[in-house]
Amino acid sequence: MGIDAGLTDIAITSNGLKTSNPRFLKNAQRNLKRKQKVLSRCKKGSKGRAKARLLVAKAHERVAFARNDFQHKLSRQLVDENQAVVVETLKVKNMLKNHCLARSIADAGWHSFVIKLDYKAKQAGKHLVKIDQWFASSKTCSCCDRKQEEMPLNVRSWTCDCGAVHDRDINAAINIKRQGILKLKAEGLSVSADGGQRKSGTLPVAA
Ligand SMILES: [Zn+2]
Repeated sequence: MGIDAGLTDIAITSNGLKTSNPRFLKNAQRNLKRKQKVLSRCKKGSKGRAKARLLVAKAHERVAFARNDFQHKLSRQLVDENQAVVVETLKVKNMLKNHCLARSIADAGWHSFVIKLDYKAKQAGKHLVKIDQWFASSKTCSCCDRKQEEMPLNVRSWTCDCGAVHDRDINAAINIKRQGILKLKAEGLSVSADGGQRKSGTLPVAA
C-alpha cells in the first residue's frame, strides 16, 4: 500500500482512501486555539495570564494525546491490512522549508506517524518502505508515466495528455506504491502488485 501525506487528509492510500483527522482531534485543536487567544489577551505578569498559560498547556497536551491516539489506530490498521506500506519521507522535510506549509505539515505529524508505522511493521514482520528521493510522485501520471512540468499545490485534480483524470493525492499514492514495489523487488522480495488490498471499504483506484 502506498501512502501519500496530505494536508487536510493525513493519509491518502493508493487504493483511493483518504483519512482525515478525526473529530476529537479537530475539537482539541479548536479548543487549543481558543485558549491561546485568551492567553494572548491577558496582561503580562497578571494572575489571569498565569492561569491562561496553564490552560493552554493542558489544551496542548490534549491535542498531543488525541493525535497520538489517532496515529496509533491508523498505523495499526495499515500494518494489519497490508504486507508492505510505502511512504515518502524526504518530500515532507523539503516542504517544511516552505514557511506557509510548515505549520500544517507539522500538525499533520507525518514524521511521528511514520515512526509508528515503522515499528509496528517491524513487530509484525512486515515491510515499511521509505521512498527518499522521489520528488515526482505528484507530477507523474500513474497510467502512462508521463511527467508534468509543474504541479502547484493548489491543483487538486488534473488530466493527463493520455486522458487519465487524476486526484492529485491518490495518483501520488499510486506512484509511491509502485516505487516501493520496485524497491522491494530490488531487494529480492517477491511482490504481487495488488497484494494487501484493504478488506474494508475498498474503492476503485483512480483511472
Ligand atoms: Zn497519462
